[in-house]
Amino acid sequence: MRKKIIAGNWKMNKVISEAEQFLNEVKTSIPSSDQVDSVVCAPFLSLPALVEQAKGTDVKIAAQNMHYEENGAFTGEVSPVMLQDLGVDYVVLGHSERREMFNETDESVNKKVKAAFDHNITPIVCVGETLTQRDANETKPHVEKQVKAALEGLSEQQVKETVIAYEPIWAIGTGKTASSEDANEVCAHIREVVKTTVSEDVANEVRIQYGGSVKPANVDELLAQSDIDGALVGGASLEPESFLKLVEAGK
Ligand code: 13P
Repeated sequence: MRKKIIAGNWKMNKVISEAEQFLNEVKTSIPSSDQVDSVVCAPFLSLPALVEQAKGTDVKIAAQNMHYEENGAFTGEVSPVMLQDLGVDYVVLGHSERREMFNETDESVNKKVKAAFDHNITPIVCVGETLTQRDANETKPHVEKQVKAALEGLSEQQVKETVIAYEPIWAIGTGKTASSEDANEVCAHIREVVKTTVSEDVANEVRIQYGGSVKPANVDELLAQSDIDGALVGGASLEPESFLKLVEAGK
């Protein structure tokens, strides 16, 4: 059985004091990490405080992006070395908002995934189709291409540890969730891609999240699907009470 992983992606929300208050409110109620992995993906500025506060608790902390180079003349960027030094557990890579607005490509996502592993940070790799692609029946080939590109050159062990987040772009922040069956169909396809490109063992172990308008009201149905192993949640992860309900659902 794959352990569920519930991650709250705050995106560009919360100043440091708000982040600290959030963690203070949830940290003692978070279920044991033996039952479910609970992750908070926060803006860079809040990470030092959150990593410190999360010590000795079952909350894991993630960055929302990073550059793949270790250091150098990359004004404004944050490197994997810096995140490792800080002690973050996960990093979200290739989120559709970064692909659409900040020129993230399959190639840069792959470089970042490798850099994350080189620095002992677990990548949460996002893939997903636009509404136009879905309407043109291109969802599976598109997602397949993104998954293959992101995992290119990784060892079997690394693929096993990677978390893949299937987030249909049309379902992000729109209140429109993919039906749990549709979401599961794409997650199952992703697992099939891992099976054919890596191995059945790895495919059985790799964790695949669904993301896109997940909330306490629909999380149970989504997590009950055969190939959905967790959720990557934006809006509904911002309030402590709602986040706690979501991680409870992952138990
Ligand atoms: P929403 O849950 O707000 O739709 O956002 C999903 C998402 O993009 C998480 O990374």
